[in-house]
Amino acid sequence: MVKANAYGHGLERAVAALADLTDGFALIELERAVRLRAAGFELPILMLEGFYTAEELPLFIEHRLIPVLHRLDQIHTLLAANWPAALPVYLKLDTGMHRLGFDAAGLAAARTALSGKVPDITLMTHFADADGSRGVDWQLERFATMTAGMDLPCSLSNSAALLRFPDVVANDWARPGIMLYGGSPFPQLISAAELDLQPVMTLQSEIIAVQTLVAGDSVGYGCSFTSDHPMRIGVVACGYADGYPRHAPTGTPVLVDGLRTRTLGRVSMDKLCVDLTDLPAKVGAGGTATLWGQAGETVLPADEVATSAGTISYELFCALAARVPVSEIN
Ligand SMILES: *Cc1c(COP(=O)(O)O)cnc(C)c1O
Repeated sequence: MVKANAYGHGLERAVAALADLTDGFALIELERAVRLRAAGFELPILMLEGFYTAEELPLFIEHRLIPVLHRLDQIHTLLAANWPAALPVYLKLDTGMHRLGFDAAGLAAARTALSGKVPDITLMTHFADADGSRGVDWQLERFATMTAGMDLPCSLSNSAALLRFPDVVANDWARPGIMLYGGSPFPQLISAAELDLQPVMTLQSEIIAVQTLVAGDSVGYGCSFTSDHPMRIGVVACGYADGYPRHAPTGTPVLVDGLRTRTLGRVSMDKLCVDLTDLPAKVGAGGTATLWGQAGETVLPADEVATSAGTISYELFCALAARVPVSEIN
């Protein structure tokens, strides 16, 4: 899965790292898929929301992009555009997510419409709660019922299913996403480290000022944090315009020169504040703030920051702003 600019990691960068390991890529954005072909990637490219308008189909055909079809009228549009019989398609089945996909009757109609015209069909569904209490069995049962007697390749598992229900993957295509980028699909239950996943993205900045507070001083917009004792704080050049979540409350973990501490007060557009009070006095202006990822031997999982901010690592990664300079370190 390399949708959303490879979960914010940069499409070309992720593709360079993964191209030799994968049997194909999947994404949403047509222009990006064309870029993958232009870069010389020859293996299957799956378009997760198919096509939106008939005007896109010539590009699908030219670049052999595989559409995920989830509505009958898409099939009519596809056939009207003289879709070559040799090109594969996916049919998406709704087995309980209730977003995209055919029900049993829709699937029958779709197969009838494609019959004799587009033989290369893969059946796909998506799990709603592979990371949660309902698991995947209920959807697998519906999938089995809906596809009984059809001898077609399948694609079912996301990261959560791959890690938690590896047997499900005894089918043909898997669709790992967040695990490729070192995020846990169930951070509340099992950390990325316990899953043997390493962080890929590290977000770092610098302490650009140090402030000394006396009891009663407050920090940042809204004066949402007020000290009750003398404190030393660092001002970090990173804010929500860089993709750091504004909802991260006081106490969100952060590393300064590799030492764990916490944020203080509200995150602003370009800055956030961190507590240096209990860190060695030499930690100060010019120090490195690691907002998530790896600082030397120490890891601050993006999942922890995300949990503190009431979100998931997926959203943090995808929100990394274009203004943040990116460098690659191996
Ligand atoms: C994004 C996506 C995935 C990958 O999900 P992860 O939780 O990141 O592994 C799999 N399948 C579909 C249809 C998706 O849209």
